[in-house]
Amino acid sequence: MPVPASVDKLLDHLHRIADLNAAASVLEWDQETHMPSGGLEARVQQLRTLRSISHDLLTSDACVELLEQADAEEELSAITQDLIRVTRRDVDRARRVPTDLVERITEASAHAKEAWRSARTHDDFGQFAPHLERLLVLSREKAEAIGYEKEPYDALLEEYEPRMTTEEVAALCTDLRERLIPIVSAIADSSQPDDDFLHRRFDPSKQLQFGRTVASEIGYDFDHGRLDLSTHPFSTAFSVGDVRITTRVAPDHFSTSFFGTLHEAGHALYEQGIDKKLDRTPLASGTSLGMHESQSRLWENHVGRSFPFWQHYYPELQSTFRDVLGTIDVDAFYAAINKVQPSLIRVEADEVTYNLHIMLRFELERQLIDGNLSVEDLPEAWNAGMEEYLGILPSNDAEGVLQDIHWSLGAFGYFPTYLLGTLMAAQLYTAAEDAIPDLSKKIGGGQFDDLLAWLRRHIHQFGRRRYAQGLLEASTGRELTPDAWLAYVERKYGDLYTLPSATGVGRG
Ligand code: ZN
Repeated sequence: MPVPASVDKLLDHLHRIADLNAAASVLEWDQETHMPSGGLEARVQQLRTLRSISHDLLTSDACVELLEQADAEEELSAITQDLIRVTRRDVDRARRVPTDLVERITEASAHAKEAWRSARTHDDFGQFAPHLERLLVLSREKAEAIGYEKEPYDALLEEYEPRMTTEEVAALCTDLRERLIPIVSAIADSSQPDDDFLHRRFDPSKQLQFGRTVASEIGYDFDHGRLDLSTHPFSTAFSVGDVRITTRVAPDHFSTSFFGTLHEAGHALYEQGIDKKLDRTPLASGTSLGMHESQSRLWENHVGRSFPFWQHYYPELQSTFRDVLGTIDVDAFYAAINKVQPSLIRVEADEVTYNLHIMLRFELERQLIDGNLSVEDLPEAWNAGMEEYLGILPSNDAEGVLQDIHWSLGAFGYFPTYLLGTLMAAQLYTAAEDAIPDLSKKIGGGQFDDLLAWLRRHIHQFGRRRYAQGLLEASTGRELTPDAWLAYVERKYGDLYTLPSATGVGRG
């Protein structure tokens, strides 16, 4: 059917917004990868200019009018209907937050970030406390402006995980906690594999090359992407045809770069798989942070930390790093990269204990937002939670409550998406295993096409056209639960560790 003129006009408007956002993303990518430090001051201004023009175009009366005119057409394609619905949601949300509040939050988090860095360096929570207090006040104000049904945290969570409520996250956590803590403490009591060799010297350029080869073989398209170095690994998309990833290399730790690369490649596979028809519109990105994280974790953990994967890749890895791995067999390597040990730092946590770090943060920030926990009492609550969940105590706030940057950015509601992503990954992978005959054999043979095609068909192609929960139910037949992830953990780590049957964890 012919595209009505009103839809063309709307698309033209949205393309301009998308182009401005893409230009800003290129500048941000450049800032993290290539920009000399002297470029910082001007770069901050350039980004502010581009982002504010884009924000003004999106929230303008003209945009609202274009949406209304297009929506009034008799016959609209399914994509156009989705486009109008999703854009309207973005516009409504953005228009509810007054410009001066946005500016006050930006300003407050700029100061908070600096105070947080200094507080962490000097292990002095007091330096950060007043800034955190201010950001909480502003975040509550933002939640009131956006509106919510049950509690202010809902409004903040919605930004990262549309249609997910605080109560739903809390219910998942309760279920998970009861079944996970016994597993973690049983592992903590059993004997540990040797992983010292992972901390010997691995030639950095060979590490990079190996990661690049594997990223390409799982399906990351280097004609439509590239891999660079940055302090904090990330992936970013300028269009469906240009989705980039970064990694960092630690000369004395194999896992950092390799699994970091695989993780970011997983994010990028999602963006590279979006239907090209959605490009340059608000539909051309991942549907939620949780779903995005599910893609990175699926490739990093379910594929990249699996035994079949290393049956395939270990001989090549071993010959690349013969001096370090020459006497280590694949079983020992597999056990080492899957070592589980309660630890203080979230970003260094293994896949089993990671969720406990997230649950703690979610519970604390929910209470901070609704006023049931004061900033003053936060460090103590943090330590109590670490002891209860992981059985360990930070010796100072720098390796405790001050370790993450998120709260200094005012990003309340972000942490749960890591947990949701982990659970979604397991549920999706289990469904893929049911749908694809001999999937683990295929992975053992270095064949990833069927898995990628399954993800493309069920998740990637839709971009933001469907909500995460809808995609998950359509592809796995049920809503999100911790069951698939717990079953995966019990099976995999029941084999890797000799666990007493009292935990309900068995071999098999
Ligand atoms: Zn990620």
